[in-house]
Amino acid sequence: MKKLILASNNAKKLKELKAILSDMDVEILSQREAGCNFEVEETGTTFAENAYLKAKAVFDATGEATVADDSGLMVDALNGEPGVYSARYAPGGHDASDKEKYMYLLSKLEGVTDRRAKFVSSICCLLPGVAGETEHIQVPDGTEIRTEGECRGQILTEPHGEGGFGYDPVFMPDGYSDSMAVLGSEVKNKISHRAHALEKFRTELRRINGTDK
Ligand code: IMP
Repeated sequence: MKKLILASNNAKKLKELKAILSDMDVEILSQREAGCNFEVEETGTTFAENAYLKAKAVFDATGEATVADDSGLMVDALNGEPGVYSARYAPGGHDASDKEKYMYLLSKLEGVTDRRAKFVSSICCLLPGVAGETEHIQVPDGTEIRTEGECRGQILTEPHGEGGFGYDPVFMPDGYSDSMAVLGSEVKNKISHRAHALEKFRTELRRINGTDK
């Protein structure tokens, strides 16, 4: 594999995906760098369905190996909300800022003592067919790799820090004493839902390909 396209237009998510996959021996391109200037409508009801929709649209447009992440926050006391609606969880929907979304979440949890929650990342990668030296097809066109990762923690009662994106200022991962936004990208890219899902993705890719290539 020579190129890997990340199917996302979220600049902060892209930065994390690129950092986590940076030591792979492939050229990593964003969706825009690959010439895909479209948004894919997330009509699925699960993270896995939405990850597939995003990966498939970019894979069909480019024919290159494409990886998509669909992710969100699930709060135990809210029966898993906001879940797949994390990006539009506020009265303003998609147009609401990250701050409006996490402040809305905090308002929903006012007076709630059970603050347990988890971030979930679902990864879907579609691979083009690869012909081996003997012209024998080693990887069938459209081969899928699907993985998931989680990061458990607690919702704080007020936001802390400016790092990361989304709900990071109000999420404190288990085993740490401050928000993901305060912990910073070096820690986040080791312990996050996305880091765990991508680690499994790399293991699976190596199994299929023999290497990262
Ligand atoms: P997606 O682009 O549909 O996957 O939207 C994911 C949404 O979930 C984002 O807009 C954030 O609100 C939230 N989210 C996903 N991952 C993270 C994270 O690592 N930190 C904070 N919020 C996240």
